Amino acid sequence: MPSVYIKTYGCQMNERDSEAVAAQLVAHGYTLAKSEHVADVVILNTCSVRDNAEKSALGKMSAMIGLGRKARPGQFFGFMGCMAQSRGKELIDRLPDVDLVLGTQKFHRAAEYIDDLIAGRRNKIVDTDAETGSESTIREHLFSDSRKASVTGFVSIMQGCNQYCTFCIVPYTRGEERSRPVLEIVDECQQLVSGGVREITLLGQIVTSYGKHDIPKLNGKTAFVQLIEAVHEIEGLNRIRFTSPHPKGYGDDLVEAYARLPKLAAHAHLPLQSGSDRVLKLMHRGYDRKRYLEIIRKLRAACPDIGITSDIIVGFPGETEEDFEQTLSLCREVEFDNAFLFKYSARRDTPAASMPDQLPESLIEERHARLLGLINEIGARKYDAFVQQLVRILVEGTSKKNSARMMGRTSCNKIVLFDGAERHRGQIMDVRITRVGSFTLYGDPAIVNL
Ligand code: SAM
Repeated sequence: MPSVYIKTYGCQMNERDSEAVAAQLVAHGYTLAKSEHVADVVILNTCSVRDNAEKSALGKMSAMIGLGRKARPGQFFGFMGCMAQSRGKELIDRLPDVDLVLGTQKFHRAAEYIDDLIAGRRNKIVDTDAETGSESTIREHLFSDSRKASVTGFVSIMQGCNQYCTFCIVPYTRGEERSRPVLEIVDECQQLVSGGVREITLLGQIVTSYGKHDIPKLNGKTAFVQLIEAVHEIEGLNRIRFTSPHPKGYGDDLVEAYARLPKLAAHAHLPLQSGSDRVLKLMHRGYDRKRYLEIIRKLRAACPDIGITSDIIVGFPGETEEDFEQTLSLCREVEFDNAFLFKYSARRDTPAASMPDQLPESLIEERHARLLGLINEIGARKYDAFVQQLVRILVEGTSKKNSARMMGRTSCNKIVLFDGAERHRGQIMDVRITRVGSFTLYGDPAIVNL
């Protein structure tokens, strides 16, 4: 049977989409190749959030086609995901050797289309149409022998975004918010847990908006909190995480869930984007500095050990030195455990791309370096405070960088490395922290199997 290699750019949702497509192809008899060099079919799952991600995928595809057509004449090439959705046929006009362009609502058609291409029934396929019910098609998981041992699982609970932040391309590439039914999600989570998964991350573009349009509030609880409660019931599941949320989703019902539901991991990722009210308004974020700080205060009151991380954009059009200082001061006040910093990247068709006062690259670079320095300094202080402490971790597997070490994660989302063995995989252990690396803790196991 033909072999397929899928390379993924971007977020955890893209990783999950790739896994679902890979599982679909395996179910159709395809095998998974280890690299593009030995695959009959190569698919790039793309990201459009920033220009760099698009450029990397385009560069990779042209390099592969250059090599592939010479080294492996009958090889097929495809794009899927956000860039496939936003650029469609334009990708084939630009790279005529590309055979398939699969939009974000068409992943479940991958096997059918690749079969058609290989059999010669069709030549070029571009499908970026909307499809009702496509949110429920990202459900297959890879249960190969190695996947069976997987401790963490990811479940896509919804697709799309209705927030329309002025910088963001996602509503145009993923469409309107569409949520899967609770029972369908719980069933998928249950299957993962039966296969050995101990921690589940619920995924969505704005995951906290889950079910907003079809599931009414119950006893003051949003559909998202109702879903967390339903997943919480699953026996054998130890932890629940979710990404990526929006601060507007952190109502009192969700804040209170951290104190009430022991399986809900003590971690909140709260994308801030900017500390300036003026910029937040231009971004169409729907909260201000005061509201953001209030959420943080409530979360820390409900769950004192909570880890708080964020996304911040540097250099939004018109960002003044004073606006940027507001971001620095908010970071000092909140003391994030870590934050992903993004240099503003103009995306076509977004309102911010045509706003006046686009900042020069050099200024964005300079501010990015200053903010990174602050985030690293605060992070180092926070991580240092763990030395000599006993922390409880769920062991996920071997360390990516050193296979002699095992890697686990605290509930508050700190990575802990320790000298362990394969038998620790999937165990909950108490570990004494002995030293600290860059956003990493090193520990000495004090094994307490629960
Ligand atoms: N739920 C998240 C939120 O509340 O905004 C959105 C997740 S988004 C897919 C991931 C991150 O990419 C955003 O939080 C933002 O910081 C960054 N991002 C999105 N568009 C961007 C752009 N045009 N330039 C730079 N960074 C961007």
